[in-house]
Amino acid sequence: MKQLRAIRGMNDLLPADSPTWQYVESTLSELFARYGYSEIRTPLLEVTQLFSRAVGEATDIVEKEMYTFDDKSGDSVTLRPEGTAGTVRAGIQNNLLTTPQRLWYFGPMFRYERPQKGRLRQFHQFGVEVFGIEGPDIDAEILIMTARLWRQLGVADHVRLQLNSLGNSESRAAYREALVAYLEERRDQLDEDSQRRLERNPLRILDSKNTQTQELLADAPCLLDFLDQESAAHFASLRQMLDAAGIEYEINPRLVRGLDYYGKTVFEWVTDSLGAQGTVCAGGRYDGLVEQMGGKPTPAVGFGLGVERLVLLLQTLEVLPEALEQQVDAYLVAVGDVQSAALTAAEQIRDSLPWLRLQTHCGGGSFKSQMKKADKSSADFALIIGEDEAAAGQVTVKFLRADEPQQTVAVADLAAVLQG
Ligand code: ATP
Ligand code: MG
Repeated sequence: MKQLRAIRGMNDLLPADSPTWQYVESTLSELFARYGYSEIRTPLLEVTQLFSRAVGEATDIVEKEMYTFDDKSGDSVTLRPEGTAGTVRAGIQNNLLTTPQRLWYFGPMFRYERPQKGRLRQFHQFGVEVFGIEGPDIDAEILIMTARLWRQLGVADHVRLQLNSLGNSESRAAYREALVAYLEERRDQLDEDSQRRLERNPLRILDSKNTQTQELLADAPCLLDFLDQESAAHFASLRQMLDAAGIEYEINPRLVRGLDYYGKTVFEWVTDSLGAQGTVCAGGRYDGLVEQMGGKPTPAVGFGLGVERLVLLLQTLEVLPEALEQQVDAYLVAVGDVQSAALTAAEQIRDSLPWLRLQTHCGGGSFKSQMKKADKSSADFALIIGEDEAAAGQVTVKFLRADEPQQTVAVADLAAVLQG
């Protein structure tokens, strides 16, 4: 029969890589806890309208990247392509947004994209969403928090912060008009994608990777010249706080982000170590979204962090802790008719040594073959139970990675030997 394979761009996480993911996941969740953020989990599947309304009809995500289908009752549903829309929906529906909320989430996102390095169809994001705080102190906090994350993971020298302000919707509309006027006159010099965007989503042209388009944009009107007073003051204050905190950034007036809900602050943490897919973490302020989704006007700011890209970065820079490769500390070798005694002893050992990761050999076999397995496991010790040990309630400890003589001790005394 033909072998079935996973869908392109949807990867298995194999045992060899899961310690790395667990390390990243625990580092992030512990960091968020240190800043007083709470976890939220929302469904992977939502009604399609949630995303078309929140993310915006004229975005790449909604125009061409969503996994949308009709369920059995004919309702259009979509696998979430990002985490903000669902979080906002959950916040409104559960009345969470009546007081300020600092939230984080982690999980898979789905986008029908062309799979390549750092770009998948099922990928994972950590995200942060803060509601009910106008900022700019909270904008600064989430950037300071991510800067701490980079230091903690050992990648601080390899990521740069890019910062921009999109202003409010009026200043953005005024800028949009000026940009369109400028580009209309030079329409024939634009790449095909950008020509299409000129009507639908002109600000996204600023993001074009096409070099001729980029050259054309060098003399285009600048977004920051159109900022309204409040957004300009917000931005200046944010910059001052980042300066005071020692967070370096580059102002990139062409940074616009691909989702419609952003206004005022937008940012990206980018790296040069991953090639074309260099944005590891991206976000900004979306003060209008909660009201637009049917809630009360609520200021909000957040970001999404691509875990596959972060893991790739940690692997590329070789900054993963060495201990991650070790799966077990001890391997219990059971020789002879002692399987039952071995399982019981293993439980006793786990009772007295909760920190010990102990794998018990199952399935029999010779002493030699079991010791080979113990050696191949990452264990530091083999704990050997033969018929003599089983009868005496003892275990023989053999040190696999240290030059120490083996010892036979009562199971109850094992703690002292292993802790030493
Ligand atoms: P890009 O410009 O790379 O397509 P985006 O603007 O679509 O990114 P966001 O929607 O803001 O990205 O998502 C936040 C982060 O999630 C990105 O910065 C990236 O790290 C990660 N990400 C987005 N799409 C993918 C994908 N298809 N595969 C893997 N990671 C992704
Ligand atoms: Mg994208």
